[in-house]
Amino acid sequence: MDADSVLDALAAAGGRRTSARQVIVQAVLAAKGHVTADELASDIHRRFPSINISTVYRTLEALEEIGVIDHVHLGHGRAVYHLADEEHQHLVCERCEAVIELPASKLRPLLRAIERDHNFEVDRRHFAIVGLCEKCREPNRRRSPAEPPSSQGGRSARGRSSRNR
Ligand SMILES: [Zn+2]
Ligand SMILES: [Zn+2]
Ligand SMILES: [Zn+2]
Repeated sequence: MDADSVLDALAAAGGRRTSARQVIVQAVLAAKGHVTADELASDIHRRFPSINISTVYRTLEALEEIGVIDHVHLGHGRAVYHLADEEHQHLVCERCEAVIELPASKLRPLLRAIERDHNFEVDRRHFAIVGLCEKCREPNRRRSPAEPPSSQGGRSARGRSSRNR
């Protein structure tokens, strides 16, 4: 996906092709992994002070409407954006907030069984599956030395939302 075709798609959906939109689309495509709207907006506003934060939010909404990005809730209220063309399911550790990306194909048999047996269509993308990661499951290790999990979810999505190392 390149910025030009995304901008064309936005224009086709009724938007105008502005330089602000171009900057925002490039930032979205360059942000590998998961970022919150706030992170993107403040990053763009810092580099291009003339771009309003509200413009960033509106453009993110438009990008989601045309299917370029998706938002997903990784923890307590924490929503992040990622490119919609990457098929993965999120596993989030409730203790250390590590995010593991699971190939979506691993869930397919389960989702098919749920649909068949309950006539229920699962939207697996909207929320993460929560649990305990390998590191936090180790019986002899003490609680994460970094910090206790915050019950508010948090603003620190960037560092932690990378692939699990
Ligand atoms: Zn949502
Ligand atoms: Zn993702
Ligand atoms: Zn963990």
